[in-house]
Amino acid sequence: MFPKFDPTNQDACLAVLEDVTTNAKQIQESVLENVLSRNAQTEYLKRFLNGGSDIQNFKKNVPVINYEDFKPYIERIANGEPSEIICSQPTITELISSSGTSAGVPKLIPMTTEEMDRRSLFTPLFESLLNKQAGGLYQGKALLFFFMNGDTETPCGLWVGTFITNVIRSYSNRSFLWDRALSSPLDVSMCRDTKQSMYCQLLCGLAQRDHVGRFGASFSSTFIKVIKFLEVHWRELCSNIRMGHVSEWITDVKCRTAVSNILGGRNPELADIIEKECDKKSWEGIVRRLWPKAKCIETIVTGSMAQYVPMVNFYGGGLPLVSAIYGSSECFFGINLDLLCKLSDVSYTIIPNSAYFEFLEINRNENETGHGQLVDLVDVKIGHCYEPVVTTFTGLYRYRVGDVLQATGFHNNTPMFQVVGRQKVALSIDLDKTYEEDLEKAVTLAKRLLEEHNIMLTDFTSYVYTCSFPGHYVLCWELETKLNDTTLEFDPNTLEECCFLVEEYLDAVYRKYRNDKSIGPLEIKVVKGGTFDELMDFFVSRGSSVSQYKTPRSVTHEEALKILESGVVSEFFSKKTPLWKSHEIHSVQ
Ligand code: AMP
Repeated sequence: MFPKFDPTNQDACLAVLEDVTTNAKQIQESVLENVLSRNAQTEYLKRFLNGGSDIQNFKKNVPVINYEDFKPYIERIANGEPSEIICSQPTITELISSSGTSAGVPKLIPMTTEEMDRRSLFTPLFESLLNKQAGGLYQGKALLFFFMNGDTETPCGLWVGTFITNVIRSYSNRSFLWDRALSSPLDVSMCRDTKQSMYCQLLCGLAQRDHVGRFGASFSSTFIKVIKFLEVHWRELCSNIRMGHVSEWITDVKCRTAVSNILGGRNPELADIIEKECDKKSWEGIVRRLWPKAKCIETIVTGSMAQYVPMVNFYGGGLPLVSAIYGSSECFFGINLDLLCKLSDVSYTIIPNSAYFEFLEINRNENETGHGQLVDLVDVKIGHCYEPVVTTFTGLYRYRVGDVLQATGFHNNTPMFQVVGRQKVALSIDLDKTYEEDLEKAVTLAKRLLEEHNIMLTDFTSYVYTCSFPGHYVLCWELETKLNDTTLEFDPNTLEECCFLVEEYLDAVYRKYRNDKSIGPLEIKVVKGGTFDELMDFFVSRGSSVSQYKTPRSVTHEEALKILESGVVSEFFSKKTPLWKSHEIHSVQ
């Protein structure tokens, strides 16, 4: 649905962006017409449209759904029924496992070759902007960290994996394109062992430090992970460069060969330069010092990733942070057209050719929580908050994405949005998303252990602690003894066990990241009696009403955090790692 253009021509790319954002309304109408006429005979749409493809009937009769409503169709496809039940053409070729979880299991989103091609056009569009705005992009290679995660198959043999894994494997028969643009050859990014892959991507990047024009990772949580890995491995990396020999523990043959070719031979001068920088007391500005030609750090720092900005800035040493694309497994939404703007101003302009977009207004008035009207893309109002609802070329119809976006303005006739966060997500450190509801459930189950000791949990809240790496979840618990006339006493082992029980009850994505050590052990801070009253007083003083007050299940407000911190009497950490099995992520139940 994009107009024909040459993606290698910067002016053509910039012209396309102007064109599509000017004609958003017409493009959206033709996207919807196209999707409906292609799919009128699908089992799903026939339920609501009786084989017709009229837009007004679509708006009147097709319900707004979430993943749970759609899941039975995905399960049927995974188990071997034809994908025509939701998408007539083209055929669904893969299922993308999204980090957004539903009941603890990642969602599986249909994908087609046509859709992969459509999404691939986002890269030249934003790179043209970056080249124009940051300049000299094509003079260097990109050191962008991409990792392949355990992909698998459904019972009928349909490929299942993350979107990035699918992108990487889509280059397998045109690796020259990848190798031309990135400092790490495709064989390195295709290595399924994340540790070997990260080590080798760093080695390639360091060996070609003078050719690296930009540095990045898809999300800023990954960026931090890479830097922390470098902190541990820089001496060994330098020794490999000095000797022209890759460490023996890199056993992936293709990866080893690719890196050896890049190293070429011994390079003691380069090893000395890198060693000197890494050996300095402070790692402030390490990216700029190790990759002096890098013009920017390309990583998403908006939404839940904003918490990492101070750390990325510290290591980046003032390099501009570029948060380029807003997308999800379900659909690619938009591009940040002003790539070097202040981070607080980052907004993404919707690309109207990607899908048909509607927006469910979020009513933030505390007295009338819930959703408002559903409006078309061009009808959103600046300042209002919305949840996007998408109808895609891959079989999703009026599907709620779960993000909260705020309309901030228009580029030509197309709205721009800031990503505010997720609906009802209480805690998130990496790509994990713990919903309020799930957190409450986990705490309810874990606190039973206290009850055996005649202790009650009177109130709780939570926050994420990201000042150290890896970050971890912190729960603040106010406890009371059930027995009058006794002072509150508890065995530290019981509280440590509670930490672990909460973790065990959290979803598979959280437990996977705990096993990967991307998330640290959960902490319970016991606060003194009266702390939650003080917290309530604080929120009431800011406009909440006592009769309607509900303890927030997660807190980010600095003043509120201070109140909690000043009430802390003891702290406990989970001493065990919760169980996680790889099939939990990919299984289709
Ligand atoms: P996934 O489906 O696993 O790819 O995760 C997609 C989710 O990541 C989106 O629904 C957003 O919540 C989040 N996300 C993606 N891009 C951005 C962005 N540019 N800024 C903030 N959050 C983002």
